[in-house]
Amino acid sequence: MTTPKAKSVSKKTAGIKPTITTEQTPIAQALQNHLIFSSGKTSASATKRDWYASTAYTVRDHVIERWVKTVEGYREHDPKRVYYLSLEFLIGRMLSNAALNLGINDEVRDGLSDLGYQLENVVEMESDAALGNGGLGRLAACFLDSMATLDIPGTGYGIRYEYGMFRQTIEKGQQVENPDNWLRYVNIWEFQRPEHTYMVQFFGKVVEYPTKNGVGYHWVESESVVAMAYDIPIPGYDTHTVNNLRLWSAKATREFDLRQFNDGNYEKAVEGRNATENISKVLYPNDASASGRELRLKQQYFFVSASIQDILRRFLLKRREWNELPDKIAIQLNDTHPAIAVAELMYQLVDVHRLEWAHAWKLVVKIFGYTNHTLMPEALETWSVELFGRLLPRHLGIIYQINHEFLQMVNHKFPGDTDLLTRVSIIDESNGRRVRMAHLAVVGSHTVNGVAALHSQLLKTTLFADFNRIYPGKFVNITNGITPRRWLNQCNPQLTSLLEKVIGAGFQKDLSDLSDIVPLAEDKAFRKVFREIKRANKLRLAQRLEKVTGVTVNPDSLFDVQIKRIHEYKRQLLNLLHVITLYNRIRSGNADSITPRTVIFGGKAAPGYWMAKLIIRLINDVAAIVNEDPAVGDKLKVVFYPNYEVSAAELLFPGSDLSEQISTAGTEASGTGNMKMALNGALTIGTLDGANVEIKEEVGDENIFIFGLTTDEVAEKKASGYNPWDYYHANAELKQVLDMIATGFFCVDEPDRYKAIFDNLLQKGDHYLLLADYESYIATQDAVSALYKDQEEWSRRAILNVARVGKFSSDRTIGEYASKIWKIQALKR
Ligand SMILES: *Cc1c(COP(=O)(O)O)cnc(C)c1O
Repeated sequence: MTTPKAKSVSKKTAGIKPTITTEQTPIAQALQNHLIFSSGKTSASATKRDWYASTAYTVRDHVIERWVKTVEGYREHDPKRVYYLSLEFLIGRMLSNAALNLGINDEVRDGLSDLGYQLENVVEMESDAALGNGGLGRLAACFLDSMATLDIPGTGYGIRYEYGMFRQTIEKGQQVENPDNWLRYVNIWEFQRPEHTYMVQFFGKVVEYPTKNGVGYHWVESESVVAMAYDIPIPGYDTHTVNNLRLWSAKATREFDLRQFNDGNYEKAVEGRNATENISKVLYPNDASASGRELRLKQQYFFVSASIQDILRRFLLKRREWNELPDKIAIQLNDTHPAIAVAELMYQLVDVHRLEWAHAWKLVVKIFGYTNHTLMPEALETWSVELFGRLLPRHLGIIYQINHEFLQMVNHKFPGDTDLLTRVSIIDESNGRRVRMAHLAVVGSHTVNGVAALHSQLLKTTLFADFNRIYPGKFVNITNGITPRRWLNQCNPQLTSLLEKVIGAGFQKDLSDLSDIVPLAEDKAFRKVFREIKRANKLRLAQRLEKVTGVTVNPDSLFDVQIKRIHEYKRQLLNLLHVITLYNRIRSGNADSITPRTVIFGGKAAPGYWMAKLIIRLINDVAAIVNEDPAVGDKLKVVFYPNYEVSAAELLFPGSDLSEQISTAGTEASGTGNMKMALNGALTIGTLDGANVEIKEEVGDENIFIFGLTTDEVAEKKASGYNPWDYYHANAELKQVLDMIATGFFCVDEPDRYKAIFDNLLQKGDHYLLLADYESYIATQDAVSALYKDQEEWSRRAILNVARVGKFSSDRTIGEYASKIWKIQALKR
């Protein structure tokens, strides 16, 4: 790092009283003031972290100014509000994003530069807020950005995990999980709100008491936990709106402390306190299957109850009729994780605020919308009735009542169809009695949406086919999107300024404007500049790869990138089969004809997902052999980029040539990595799955590489008795690759290491049809390699991808939620 060039600065600040000098911009002055008054440092003793802090405080001041005015405006105009309930918000770093959205990026950069620092370096000091696993959490973060940008009165509610997603390191080729202690240093972007605390109850029992029109319920002898609010401001782009993300932290109650202290047991008091506060300690990494961990259900109820109490408190600030509730609030459930909110709102309305059951239910169903994110049966949440009833006895009773009335309605509509009743019941009686959270969410919501056209269609014909008959019109599609602020402007400033130069800056708020560059795809000079920018981004990535992994890569090779959670359905293994195929071709003397490639993988495996971790290990074992083989040279390199997170993604997407979106058709609900790639000028190789289908529609069949079985063909193949051995015997290249894996070619010290992978593919039926899609995938990869040799044509198609993916802005997505589901208007100031 450079030392500050302005030596006079330290003299000025040494006198403590900051002096306004004419040669400094207000931002440069503010940076110095914060260094002194917020960090207690002078520029002589300041570390890079101190400069990060003063930069963050400086930008934050601007955010807060707009934030308090936004809050005031909401209070004054009392608009309808939407509450986005999500167990995950993968927001990443905040400094650059806030500076960009506020339009003060250049001033901040210049201010720092006057003091001898580079913004890019300072920004690196911020830890990612990794409060999510992957796509679902990142979607929630993109939605917050778009709601603020569109001036929609929206609030996110979630949990302030003390430890976010684990930090992944690779040791001896294997994933090691390290705690993500992201709050080790003070978090400048959060504000503790001790005045907003709520009691959340657990355990205990329910007692009935007579009321004038029947029976009421008391939840008694429960244990209480305090939920304390922490607020994070979410600034919109090019607007004065700054919305709020409210995260809950668990604190032991004072009462709890006193009880224990009075028993004279100090240690036990502290111990119990810790146990209580564990509720917001860690983010659960999602696993191969939804698990029955009690703490996870506690987390769900904890944040849902606090949020619903907070929502009702805000509603009741003004005197009004309960009937107005659906006119003032909409609540969106991000997957089933917060679905218990349906029961909690009933609990609050009926038991606490004493509404009639029927009246309360009418309101509840007008308030909730539910977004489904998966069709995979193992990912659908259920809880054992035993656990549910022990933890939340009153809510189990409420769910029984909801279910009773629902089944009565179904029976009335489809008399005598008892199989239907069994299938749609909120309680699964077949399976040791479990509460089906997806069914609760469907019954309790007025609208259910899937996240891409194909996915929403499949919801109606498979998972929710019965519900679609019961509730025609309840199921809709809203295709996912990504925020162009973070995923174009912030991560790819060079491409952004090129685009601004040729079509103006309007595309940042209306991404469909990008279509104006379509004609430039035919412009040779434009293609050249476009290519130079891609090259610069690849160089930046190559430098980082070398620094992080020690692998030197050729920036002129094709950067073939698959970055996403490691999961069998996403088929990183299929990609690896291609890598090994290329390796074999090189070894058998065909190196000359090969298009040089750098194949980059990144992604975390859930700690309990053994097969996913084995795949990571195989990638690294293959990399070790391939990268060291002198016969390969720089024709092929394989790199596993460790600890894939938002800040890594911001580097990887702009540096990619080829976007791997190769899930088995019908398994990826939407995907959003596919959108980020295309927006940054990568071509896609993908199956007709999730949003790939719509990307193809937008960019045109000629500008995307589609391969493999379709959803229908997958179903047919499975129905007609799929036999992976047929493919193994029919394709010599495939057989060779699989035999190498089975016999330990990449792990001579332990030849059986990957036997389980071979067995999964051949003995256990190859659930995700890698072998069935292999030949088509390889042929398509060959077409990719051939096209890459024609750089002009490659660039032409890459430009058309950028030009035609405007649909995938999360602004468009949020606009659709607002009009179709939330019925909410913008509040412009
Ligand atoms: C976009 C994104 C994802 C989702 O990627 P998919 O390819 O859609 O699975 C996951 N993690 C991070 C950090 C992202 O930015």
